[in-house]
Amino acid sequence: MHVGIDDTDSWDGGCTTHFAFELLREASRRFNVRLFDYPLLTRLNPNIPWKTRGNGSVCLRVKIRSEEISDFARFLELKLKSYVQDFYDCDPAIAVLRGRPSDDLRSFYEKALTRLVTLREALELARRHDVKVIAPRVGMGLIGSLAAIGSLMCGDHTYEVIAYRRPGAKRLVDEDSVWRMEFTTWPYTFNNVDPEKGRVLITPRGGDPVLYGIRGESPEAVLSASSIVKTYCEPLGFMVFRSNQGTDCHYLELRDAQDVQPYSSIMLRGEVASNPTVIRGGHVIFKVAFKGLEVWCAAYRPSGEVKRAAQKLVVGDVVEVYGGVRRFPGSDALSLNLEKMAVLRASSQVLEKNPRCPTCGKTLKSLGRKGGLKCTGCGFRTHLSYKIEVKLGRGEIEGIYLPPSRSMRHLAKPFRRYGLEKTGAYEFTEVDVRRVIAGER
Ligand code: ATP
Repeated sequence: MHVGIDDTDSWDGGCTTHFAFELLREASRRFNVRLFDYPLLTRLNPNIPWKTRGNGSVCLRVKIRSEEISDFARFLELKLKSYVQDFYDCDPAIAVLRGRPSDDLRSFYEKALTRLVTLREALELARRHDVKVIAPRVGMGLIGSLAAIGSLMCGDHTYEVIAYRRPGAKRLVDEDSVWRMEFTTWPYTFNNVDPEKGRVLITPRGGDPVLYGIRGESPEAVLSASSIVKTYCEPLGFMVFRSNQGTDCHYLELRDAQDVQPYSSIMLRGEVASNPTVIRGGHVIFKVAFKGLEVWCAAYRPSGEVKRAAQKLVVGDVVEVYGGVRRFPGSDALSLNLEKMAVLRASSQVLEKNPRCPTCGKTLKSLGRKGGLKCTGCGFRTHLSYKIEVKLGRGEIEGIYLPPSRSMRHLAKPFRRYGLEKTGAYEFTEVDVRRVIAGER
């Protein structure tokens, strides 16, 4: 059985991963549940407007005795209703599929990762594949639930161990221990700290039940990292997830100009078509030409290096731009909000300069309105106002630019992961529930 879960969280509390933790914790006590993959934390298109935080959904791939199936389904329904009863701003759904996820479900995941999908599409897919849907309200969460089922993550993937706090407990995490964990586990964990601001990033700031989350390359890496972190409050428990976080899998490579649709996450390769302009707030905008279309790109201040590199672009540079498509406020024009940029080829810049003095080699000075040039070194003069063209190589700006870790999307691949990507096929094997979940059961 594949149990997809989404939209169980609210601004007032709750979190879909925490619900999955509670669910698995109780299910492993009450049923003979076996897992045939790690619980999946599947992030979806970060550019949809109605997400609560990081657009995360969860899938539990479980084996259960056939005589327990109907009780298990009833248990899922009751658990969901009781978890969300005090949250009025969520629209949860659990999707349960028996058997293998079809190619349709995999494509649905790809679409939900990069574009906007409708509830209608999700409902039709669920009907076609005989998916049981548990949705106490309208069920917008079905989109994320089905996408999580379809996310097999056979290629590159990462892991996250999430520690949960008890209701009402403060997030008391020893910051020094987080830095020690960062130094000890480098490069096999990522986005633990923000070196620029000296800030710890593993603890969220909102009212959700997460105490901290540590992301890394393997279950062993994140668990050993977690054992280094000291807290001054007893965590409720931990769960290890396999995830598409930190893999850059959410950019749809544009083939066609028509695919520049609002709220999609895209990547396109083209030539810079207008020199950058700094607008109010210190943000930078410029245009990139792509198959007969000129796409506005905006690099906002928090994007750090991306914005600074955008400022140095000139017309003719070949770039790859990555980000989410939005409408410019108050206009119909679409713009790509940059999340990452690669400068593939920087064109050389041609500058006009005064020539050097033929006698002493010093650069000549213009004589203003009268015309002519003069050397301030040896006194050489000419009535000619001659300029020479100098070609400046700008190769040093070629490279990849990412925002600082504090402003990165969950799905964005940090520099630390470059070269650590998993390329072989993932082998699905049974995972002991005790390896995945820790705490009172
Ligand atoms: P958290 O990260 O704390 O779990 P969240 O940011 O995931 O919160 P949700 O409350 O789950 O936010 O809301 C996201 C909603 O958007 C869900 O109802 C989900 O089904 C839906 N959704 C996810 N991806 C897409 C998409 N590509 N197109 C349309 N709707 C989507």
